[in-house]
Amino acid sequence: MMELRIQLIPTGEIIMPPGKNGENYCHSCTKAVGSDGVRITMESALTARDRVGVQDFVLLENFTSEAAFIENLRKRFKENLIYTYIGSVLVSVNPYKDLEIYTKNHMERYRGVNFYEVSPHIYAVADNSYRSMRTERRDQCILISGESGAGKTEASKKILQYYAITCPASDQVQTVKDRLLQSNPVLEAFGNAKTLRNDNSSRFGKYMDIQFDFKGAPVGGHILNYLLEKSRVVHQNHGERNFHIFYQLIEGGEEDLLRRLGLEKNPQQYQYLVKGNCPKVSSINDRSDWKVVRKALTVIGFNDDEVEELLNIIASVLHLGNIQFGGEDSGIAYITTDTQIKYLSRLLGVDGLVLKEALTHKKIIAKGEELISPLNLEQAASARDALSKAVYGRTFTWLVNKINDSLAFKSYKNPSVIGLLDIYGFEVFQHNSFEQFCINYCNEKLQQLFIELTLKSEQDEYEAEGITWEPVQYFNNKIICDLVEEKFKGIISILDEECLRPGDASDITFLEKLEDTVGGHAHLTTHKLADGKTRKVMGREEFRLLHYAGEVNYNVNGFLDKNNDLLFRNLKEVMCMSENTILTQCFDRVELKDNKRPETAATQFKNSLAKLMEILMSKEPSYVRCIKPNDAKQAGRFDEVLIRHQVKYLGLMENLRVRRAGFAYRRRYEIFLQRYKSLCPETWPTWEGKQVDGVSTLVKHLGYKPEEYKLGRSKIFIRFPKTLFATEDALET
Ligand code: ATP
Ligand code: MG
Repeated sequence: MMELRIQLIPTGEIIMPPGKNGENYCHSCTKAVGSDGVRITMESALTARDRVGVQDFVLLENFTSEAAFIENLRKRFKENLIYTYIGSVLVSVNPYKDLEIYTKNHMERYRGVNFYEVSPHIYAVADNSYRSMRTERRDQCILISGESGAGKTEASKKILQYYAITCPASDQVQTVKDRLLQSNPVLEAFGNAKTLRNDNSSRFGKYMDIQFDFKGAPVGGHILNYLLEKSRVVHQNHGERNFHIFYQLIEGGEEDLLRRLGLEKNPQQYQYLVKGNCPKVSSINDRSDWKVVRKALTVIGFNDDEVEELLNIIASVLHLGNIQFGGEDSGIAYITTDTQIKYLSRLLGVDGLVLKEALTHKKIIAKGEELISPLNLEQAASARDALSKAVYGRTFTWLVNKINDSLAFKSYKNPSVIGLLDIYGFEVFQHNSFEQFCINYCNEKLQQLFIELTLKSEQDEYEAEGITWEPVQYFNNKIICDLVEEKFKGIISILDEECLRPGDASDITFLEKLEDTVGGHAHLTTHKLADGKTRKVMGREEFRLLHYAGEVNYNVNGFLDKNNDLLFRNLKEVMCMSENTILTQCFDRVELKDNKRPETAATQFKNSLAKLMEILMSKEPSYVRCIKPNDAKQAGRFDEVLIRHQVKYLGLMENLRVRRAGFAYRRRYEIFLQRYKSLCPETWPTWEGKQVDGVSTLVKHLGYKPEEYKLGRSKIFIRFPKTLFATEDALET
């Protein structure tokens, strides 16, 4: 077999160790690189592109074809190449196995190296953001999206590890690095759970700022949390679990600790842990995770008293769940489980009798007077669950604030920032409720931002290079964002209005009001408004939104309750009186004085999203789009139907279309010239004149037609991949 020497890209680097993962492949030239890094057989050079696909989707000849897109993903996935670019966007497919591509050596390879000169990797994104932050002094953010189980949290951890290992360090910085890293196990213990889709599913959205000083060393951090799935505290679907911390405490907690908390070593004893019938998960070791979390709490700076109070709350939630009520179905409820009240009274430092009264009565203030009325069985159970959710939810927020305190280094003013967003992807289930409505609304906002910023950065680059901007057709999803969030006429406004309306307001009257107010909207349908064909696939209690990613039916059942998120006044009072200082920080007495209704859940979410958008808009974004290859959490399985859905929901084809609308490929003159100068006698071995003239001479010699390329201020823009491939092939002959 004939051997051939390949000139390497300017850095002359080989990215992967020889023979590893089939990644003997140079990103920049879309060509295989030999196993010793330089020598390569003719056969492998010719078949590499066929075998492992292109490393940047912009180089796909048939870039509008979804089938070609998926085929390229499949080829790469088969070769364990889980990363592919769309321009500067990184697409990542969860391998569900350890690939050994996250070693220190790998980190070194990506350090300070140009994005396009190395094969696609999460470290390349991390490094590129870091360098842009340092050289251009612009704050950065990395937006990671994808559906549950696609690998978002793993990606964000890899980025954080990359910074922790590669950034300069001093003693103080080491503490920050440790705390940044250790915040993960703590937040995951309290905010993640085993679901059907992911054994370690994040049940909250997270945006984390990493702050750097002028030397590029991490000096602090700040976390914002979004919409924790509190309902999981009191209910889990079959095959799912409550938040990890409950099992970790029960399985890993020392005997005297459990005795003090009044807990038994068996999760099956607790009503809040039995609903999913899934106490153990094979991929999770609760006992060793407990040790990790316990240590992490100390590293972050929790003292023993704080840990004790925190665990008192966690145990109290379990005791609350075991409180049972007696009484006739519609009669007055009374508590039949006094042991739990005793534990609660001791652990939370509250008066047992007052707590008992508050769990079975409701207090409202009307015209300045207190009215107390007894609750029936069903009401008492739901008041108890509301208390558990409120206590857990607020404690989670307290925990985030506490971590923020420990990450805040006030001595350093005006740090540079890289933000990491790890937030729920678009969700479409058989049954979609208020939570999916909020999550999908969040994705509409992110998509809007994405399209705006991608188009804008394309446009900016064309402008900076002095190339005429060619307008791109795209779907502007502002119309859907407005439908959800507009004042007065938006779905959230209408929902809030129903929540505030006294009298007969219900989920159904909310649906009717939607029909009356926005029934004519092109992106909303209800059963009543639908045509005969659509009606068949819609329930009477549903409304359908036509999202950018597709249609979703939302069942209105529970919308009002979830949006109201009510906790009776007397339960709040008991919590305010608690001797547990975490609880008194979570339940402020001001809340009791203030007779104004608290903001509804949807409005709170809307406002926090608006703030998030502002934060993201002020930074330069990078994107990581994660894809889950199969529902079985198995390595090596590429489920095409599932993947096609995600390509659609993630808007990847639209992304590629926008990126390819003008030119498939662009490179700085010096890089282009360095790589191809051997193809032209006038530029070989060196070109003495201006770089742009060298490139111009080179491409004319190669026979590029005027419509195939443009020369900007610092870069050459090539319209079609085939032009580039032909030039690449010329290198071989
Ligand atoms: P959710 O929205 O439910 O939080 P997610 O997108 O954050 O999901 P992860 O928790 O990051 O998903 O990933 C799910 C699992 O997939 C991980 O626990 C891990 O087992 C596996 N996984 C993800 N990314 C990788 C990777 N790069 N290499 C190996 N395994 C991975
Ligand atoms: Mg996650």
